[in-house]
Amino acid sequence: KLITLDGIDGVGKTSQIEILAERLRSEGHEVMCVRDPGSTELGTRLRAMLLDSDLEMHRRTEAMLFMASRCEMIESTLRPALADGVIVISDRFLLANVVYQSVGGDVNSELLWQMGRLACGGVQPDTTLLLDLPAEISMQRVGGEKDRMESRGMDYMAKVRQAFLRELSNAGGQTYVIDASGTIEEVAASIANIDLL
Ligand code: C5P
Ligand code: MG
Repeated sequence: KLITLDGIDGVGKTSQIEILAERLRSEGHEVMCVRDPGSTELGTRLRAMLLDSDLEMHRRTEAMLFMASRCEMIESTLRPALADGVIVISDRFLLANVVYQSVGGDVNSELLWQMGRLACGGVQPDTTLLLDLPAEISMQRVGGEKDRMESRGMDYMAKVRQAFLRELSNAGGQTYVIDASGTIEEVAASIANIDLL
């Protein structure tokens, strides 16, 4: 099973992934957590480039670097793990790529889904959990130091949030919107209510 968590910056994906992975492991499942972009040597290097505020690139270039990172992760780790029956939890996936790189940009979302299908080679999430929060709150949670992406500001984040809600149904598999405005425990409880397996 491939379970992906997504949403704008500051919604608490990373903590929820840790809690979810712990819970599934305690139930006896083998769980692997990955991060998109990241998780492979190539992905880690691409991620550093993508977050580098001193590096300029066209939105389509950016989109394709995200795609490349995901492709590498799928072929080197994710596909083999899924074939072994491991539950893979991914911190972001193609949905984020479509949403972030189409918003405020010159890249059409349908084109991004198409590029994504090529890059993912048939792998798609069984379940996508969209953690949803107003942009004002998420930007407060992100706080001071912002990376190249996060420094695009509130208007951008608000548009990204709407695009997540709009595009979610195209992610494939089961999709859920989770209210992420509560405490970590409250959000974890909402996720625990979902039948993921
Ligand atoms: O997953 P994480 O939040 O660590 O992502 C790092 C940064 O890259 C974030 O600021 C996020 O907004 C941005 N991002 C993006 N497009 C993606 C994935 C992440 O702009 N496809
Ligand atoms: Mg982040």
